[in-house]
Amino acid sequence: MTTAGAVVRAKATAVPASETLPWLLSAVIVGLVLYYFIGIDQGALSVFGDTSVVHELVHDARHFLGFPCH
Ligand SMILES: [Zn+2]
Repeated sequence: MTTAGAVVRAKATAVPASETLPWLLSAVIVGLVLYYFIGIDQGALSVFGDTSVVHELVHDARHFLGFPCH
């Protein structure tokens, strides 16, 4: 419920870089893993050996994001 005329202001909070760095690095690692599996893994060069399981699993995402495929 809001009160007429009430103004709510958010306060900015400084967050030290030492607290955000692990989150940033984790996001970068997850992003690179997703990028590899969606955009690069082609079966013959797969980290799981000569299999196209990962490629087929993310095949629609690969086309949706415009990565070259076939
Ligand atoms: Zn394809």
